Amino acid sequence: MAEVLEVAVVGGGPTGLWLACELALAGVRVRVFERRAEPVRESRALTLHPRSLEVLALRGLEGRFLERGRPLPTGHFAMLDTRLDFSVLDTRFPYTLFLPQAVTEALLEARARELGVDVLRGHTVEVLRQDDEGVDLEGTSGEGLFQVRARFVVGADGARSAVRRLAGIAFPGTDVTRTAVLGDVTLGEPPSQPAIGIANTRGGVMVVPMAPGVHRIVINDPLREHVSVREPVTLEELRESSTRIAGTDFGMKDPRWLSRFGNETRLAERYREGRVLLAGDAAHIHFPAGGQGLNVGLQDAMNLGWKLAAVVKDGAPEALLDSYMRERRPVGDALIRNTLAQTALMSATQETLALREVMSDLLRAPDLNRKLANAIGALDVGYASLEVPAPRLDAPLLPEWSGRRLCDLDLTQDEGTDVALYAALHPGRWLMLGFGSGPLPRWEPGWPPRATQLRARRPVGRAELRDVGGMLVRPDGHVGWAWAA
Ligand SMILES: Cc1cc2nc3c(=O)[nH]c(=O)nc-3n(C[C@H](O)[C@H](O)[C@H](O)COP(=O)(O)OP(=O)(O)OC[C@H]3O[C@@H](n4cnc5c(N)ncnc54)[C@H](O)[C@@H]3O)c2cc1C
Repeated sequence: MAEVLEVAVVGGGPTGLWLACELALAGVRVRVFERRAEPVRESRALTLHPRSLEVLALRGLEGRFLERGRPLPTGHFAMLDTRLDFSVLDTRFPYTLFLPQAVTEALLEARARELGVDVLRGHTVEVLRQDDEGVDLEGTSGEGLFQVRARFVVGADGARSAVRRLAGIAFPGTDVTRTAVLGDVTLGEPPSQPAIGIANTRGGVMVVPMAPGVHRIVINDPLREHVSVREPVTLEELRESSTRIAGTDFGMKDPRWLSRFGNETRLAERYREGRVLLAGDAAHIHFPAGGQGLNVGLQDAMNLGWKLAAVVKDGAPEALLDSYMRERRPVGDALIRNTLAQTALMSATQETLALREVMSDLLRAPDLNRKLANAIGALDVGYASLEVPAPRLDAPLLPEWSGRRLCDLDLTQDEGTDVALYAALHPGRWLMLGFGSGPLPRWEPGWPPRATQLRARRPVGRAELRDVGGMLVRPDGHVGWAWAA
């Protein structure tokens, strides 16, 4: 009989690669099918936001990314003058990491291969059929047709997802109504500040440094915003728009990449259809404002990985997979709403400019700034209580803690050894964390729990943990259950 994979991931972009890493870490037999024969050299995304860095740190990988990127303590919302201050956020990573998507993908692919994932490049999936036991995929590669059967398939195959279409999942939303352009260029006269945004009634220009000698320039030009997304961009177009809007073309030359992109906005109606799941751009697309798409894709994968592994490997009920959509679709929805709001704030009318001033002024209030910075950094994502059975204990449960994201806590074990919370989660297992010396509760979810046990002193300086006796932490660093001291 032909081989049956446990999971087939279609698409080897950041979402698919991270998902494959998570599955392989849990011992799942997974293969990635990627249409492109070679990695992409151009980078759409340029940043990893705080929660994505936490996701990497939850597996001990942050160092590889930090050493290749450049931290920037601020982010932006709609290129408003008042920048978002990431430096005050409650995380070990209070910044956004400038790192081109091509490097992020290369690092993720290297990790996947280290974990034994088969990444098959030059393989395009074209046919999908599912039954009660599995999913058949067919497609073409350089060597001709290929066929494979898997127990589950994840479509991480981007905005035009074939998996989504073949699984019959609708992708409602709106078509492109506006386009913008970008160029990765050398600037003869770069701006004096590292990142600048200019907005006026003529349009908007953003300039950010990408690599030594290379800047990215992004332009919203109302005179050109109806140009089709398919029309190639020229350096001349970029120069003309920049000069008209910003009064200078910054001496741009030597384009590495010129691209036009649009504001098509859609959210998949469902993230699961039987044995087929969607993640990343296959599930949500939007105008790329605030640098979020790749980040949310990684975080989708982090949520799905351990659940799918628990179903495939540990006999967890398939209903656990429904919690993936319950938890992540609202995040996709919020992403769409914040990018729509940013798109509105980026139109070049007098009214919008006035609104931008009001918003910029409001963002000088630390609380508001922090709220938005937390949202863009994805540190505000919490989930409603997950339907896995609670541990057996005498102490009362603290339901308000369920689903909360935990930042990396400095813990000290009773015998005096220091351990960081995230380090205890590196194996990707549930963690039973008890504060104080009482016995740890029993946990019998009905499927093997794979929980690591850790007893530690309650961390100092964390008033919110004062009344917490312990917690069962999910593999993705969110609280499953917490109980009273
Ligand atoms: C101009 C621009 C700037 C952006 N800037 C940022 C930013 O700063 N920060 C940020 O977080 N995000 C940004 N994004 C968004 C980000 O690039 C995407 O959200 C991210 O790439 C999504 O990752 P993914 O893995 O879900 O999909 P993709 O990166 O699209 O990967 C999907 C993969 O699936 C493969 N594939 C497709 N069909 C098939 C098939 N049938 N069979 C096999 N393989 C297939 C593709 O070849 C591709 O490699 C930006 C986007 C744009 C357009």
